[in-house]
Amino acid sequence: MTSNPPELRPDLAPKLHIGDAPRAGQPTLGMVSLGCPKALVDSERILTRLRAEGYGISPDYTGADAVIVNTCGFLDSAKAESLDAIGEALKENGKVIVTGCLGAEPDYIREHHPRILAVTGPHQYEQVLDAVHAAVPPDPNPFVDLLPATGVQLTPRHFSYLKISEGCNHRCKFCIIPDMRGRLTSRPAHAVLREAEKLVAAGVRELLVISQDTSAYGMDRKHDLNPWKGDEVRSHITDLTRELGKLGSAQDLWVRLHYVYPYPFVRELIPLMADPDTAVLPYLDIPFQHAHPDMLKRMARPAAGAKTLDEIAAWRATCPDITLRSTFIVGYPGETEAEFQHLLDWMDEAQLDRVGCFKYENVAGARSNELPDHVAEELKQERWERFMQKAQAISEAKLEAKVGQVMQVIVDDIDEDGIATCRTKADAPEIDGNLFIDEGTEGLSAGDLVTVEVDEAGEYDLWGCISN
Ligand code: SF4
Repeated sequence: MTSNPPELRPDLAPKLHIGDAPRAGQPTLGMVSLGCPKALVDSERILTRLRAEGYGISPDYTGADAVIVNTCGFLDSAKAESLDAIGEALKENGKVIVTGCLGAEPDYIREHHPRILAVTGPHQYEQVLDAVHAAVPPDPNPFVDLLPATGVQLTPRHFSYLKISEGCNHRCKFCIIPDMRGRLTSRPAHAVLREAEKLVAAGVRELLVISQDTSAYGMDRKHDLNPWKGDEVRSHITDLTRELGKLGSAQDLWVRLHYVYPYPFVRELIPLMADPDTAVLPYLDIPFQHAHPDMLKRMARPAAGAKTLDEIAAWRATCPDITLRSTFIVGYPGETEAEFQHLLDWMDEAQLDRVGCFKYENVAGARSNELPDHVAEELKQERWERFMQKAQAISEAKLEAKVGQVMQVIVDDIDEDGIATCRTKADAPEIDGNLFIDEGTEGLSAGDLVTVEVDEAGEYDLWGCISN
């Protein structure tokens, strides 16, 4: 009845086996997972979320700031094993959070182990995170975090972030991530794929691949080979994406890539996105930040010399349906009117589907703070408004062109009035738009993939009806 996968046992896992070597000062958790495959999926889900929040995962007790013990309570022998595991974790680490099936009997656990920090029952992910945050506070920083701040809420159970690496080897002048998160450390491909496979088995329909620099995945590992399903997979973003795309069909799984930099080999990803038989979405979240080459050099951006308009044309030639999302900074120190106008002209040509824009601000510790010619706040605001006006006009025209099209959407929520909030393949959760279905939603649930006909478009959102 019990299964103790070595990579989840602080007491059994070889050091750094799962490639999550925490960096100095990183809040770090250990996990002991007992019980059936369902409990293992719960453990995986908690670890996935903690990784995405910036926690390190320690393969041993001493490297962890606290340990989560995911217990089994099915048989007396399983209960005894769970109590033993809690006792061991208390002895070796001292800070222990208990969850899982035995967590349904908190008094029983506390009777044996009064020193535990918290007890939560099975599938109580949010409460486990709450307890973790209280015991080992996260290290939130709006300038380095990859996820929108959602408090202790987990993402809805039908989509999940999948963190493939930590840190970054670049030195963009406005960014403090390399100082705070350290240099690029990629997880082995098989650890990422195994986690993804478990999430899909648990009902996740959309995997959101995140890292600080997704294109760079595996460079630190020299793109080593990793065992996977009797074969070998290179720790390279192309190979990883290809394998993730095989975890489901385009009809039942979406795999979405975030934070991809425009390195030349990104062209290798595009055929995967154009292939109707893989789960990889034709969607690239690619943070350009600016378009003028001098600005990009002053920002010290990776791939600053890339001819991005040529790249975009090549991607669209291979995959005409590709959605391009990006973020930009206006008012970076030294930005001239001519450079800003260049960005607006570039936007006219690039016709990006989804765009976010930030007004530059100093961040403690960033090298850009010392640059000359900071832009006045009023000018930043004016440029931001001009930029957003253009981006909004492009978005509106693109969405208008979708009216009448039939497409697959994923259902995120159904409210009490029966209105379904969904997303198309072009919409990442929490940052892009929505498609709403106002009627005929009986029988639909969050996580369903359904076919709709678009009948109305707004500035950022669509409306549609279920298509038979
Ligand atoms: S690529 Fe640049 S902006 Fe992105 S994390 Fe690295 S240093 Fe920061």
